Amino acid sequence: MTCPFLREAQVKFCHASSVRKLIPLSVAPGARAEEKCSSGAYLTCRVYQSHTMEGPVDGPCPCLGESLMQYCAAAPVAKLVPFSESLLSRCGNDGHRYCELYGSMAHPVAAGDEVDGIAMPAELSYAANHLWLEVGESGQCHAGIDAFLSRAIGNVERIQYVWQQGLHRPAAILTAGGVDWEVVFPNPLLLTGCNLYLRANPARLAAEPYTAGWLFEGCLVEGTTDNLMQGASARAWMGHDVRRIHEAVQRGSGMAADGGLFAVGVLNCLDRESRPALFHEFFSPFASGKRVTE
Ligand code: SF4
Ligand code: SF4
Repeated sequence: MTCPFLREAQVKFCHASSVRKLIPLSVAPGARAEEKCSSGAYLTCRVYQSHTMEGPVDGPCPCLGESLMQYCAAAPVAKLVPFSESLLSRCGNDGHRYCELYGSMAHPVAAGDEVDGIAMPAELSYAANHLWLEVGESGQCHAGIDAFLSRAIGNVERIQYVWQQGLHRPAAILTAGGVDWEVVFPNPLLLTGCNLYLRANPARLAAEPYTAGWLFEGCLVEGTTDNLMQGASARAWMGHDVRRIHEAVQRGSGMAADGGLFAVGVLNCLDRESRPALFHEFFSPFASGKRVTE
């Protein structure tokens, strides 16, 4: 689906000019006939005179070209993009949901659904180690950590991507409370990019894990969607994990749940010996084999 802020504009340009300046025709409706390039006045243009192209006496200038372009209506300064380029970028497909500008203008609802207080958009697929995947109509994929993992890690101070391109199980190192946690999407993905903006503002990971806090972008390959959960099975698994982590935290530390949910940054609240075991149990790629049978 195309971004709702993507607009089309017919533009004109001068073939003969050394600097190609594009002018949307819609900018000056009604003014076309009076413009030098569109009327017989082009004969007085120095650029035209330096070329020996024949044209009609009453215009338009034979050097005047027109083309269909696209632009982003959400951008403070409209930048025109050739039609073909917008289709290749995220503006022309489902990837627009992960565009910073789209997120700030459209205010998409991040939490389409909740299970025991954990936001869990129903349209996503989930790996059992708490990473999500969305596959767009064109096969373009986005992945990130879910709200459960985000809550357990707490405030992330730094993000480092293990790979930014190529066929991998996408991985990132999240640093919280001075401790590095490696999060790994358990299936292969042809990585085409990572959310580098998060390196400057890692707090988005906790605030918007399903939209602006996405981590990986790539193309679907064989095995990308293996063993992922959706719908009722995903909701059952999330509820099961919420109960399991409460039990594990109380067993390991005697800490009570915060308002019915485990504390934000619970991993760093545990003693040093208990942390790796809890992380491994819920968030390592090994955990991705654990599913709840309905
Ligand atoms: S009149 Fe013709 S040559 Fe001159 S700027 Fe316009 S299009 Fe270019
Ligand atoms: S830049 Fe972002 S908001 Fe603008 S058209 Fe592209 S996806 Fe939409």
